[in-house]
Amino acid sequence: MARYTGPVCRLCRREGMKLYLKGERCFGPKCPITQRNPARNFPPGMHGQKRTRRPSEHGLQWREKQKVRRHYGLMERQFSKTFKEAARQEGVTGDNLLRLLEMRLDNVVYRLGFADSRRQARQLVRHGHFTVNGRKTDVPSYQTRPGDVIAVREQSRRKEYFLTAAEMLKTRQAPQWLTLNPNELSGTVVNAPSRDQIEIPPINEQLIVEFYSR
Ligand code: SF4
Repeated sequence: MARYTGPVCRLCRREGMKLYLKGERCFGPKCPITQRNPARNFPPGMHGQKRTRRPSEHGLQWREKQKVRRHYGLMERQFSKTFKEAARQEGVTGDNLLRLLEMRLDNVVYRLGFADSRRQARQLVRHGHFTVNGRKTDVPSYQTRPGDVIAVREQSRRKEYFLTAAEMLKTRQAPQWLTLNPNELSGTVVNAPSRDQIEIPPINEQLIVEFYSR
């Protein structure tokens, strides 16, 4: 599956907001979005510092879609597939979309604290370090369900990375909709997250619905 491999801070600068794509660095003073020196806090590219025109309605909807897509690290096709699934389900499409994105296995691994970023979580999943309900699962887009137990595979537990992670996890707090068991290197999906349980940069998901409803 294709994925974006370019510089990620560039994506935040394009959207003009923190998308939290780089783990610890996003919370430190080196993040270009929070740097007081405006020298690096402008959109990327050779025309980034020019005054931009007021975006059209369609432009605003497109930007909102880009923010969410980039935040979760999906390519266009994957994202539009997820949107179609959200639109098929009952309820509010915008909420469904965010819930489907949150419950992807790579995101759950990230939220539980096994990885610093979604990008790293995806790699760990791809390399087969996790099981879901005891079965090895290496598909980052796997949709978890309430009751699912996500754990580090027995063979991977002795690896240096997970030995360090085990200590780090003791200081972590999982979101309300997940429970974390640091001693077992596992976590459980308690329920599907409601909109207010989803921590995401400020976005208006209704604009995304409008973008795909054109
Ligand atoms: Fe880079 Fe993270 Fe700041 Fe985004 S939030 S610009 S990824 S350091």
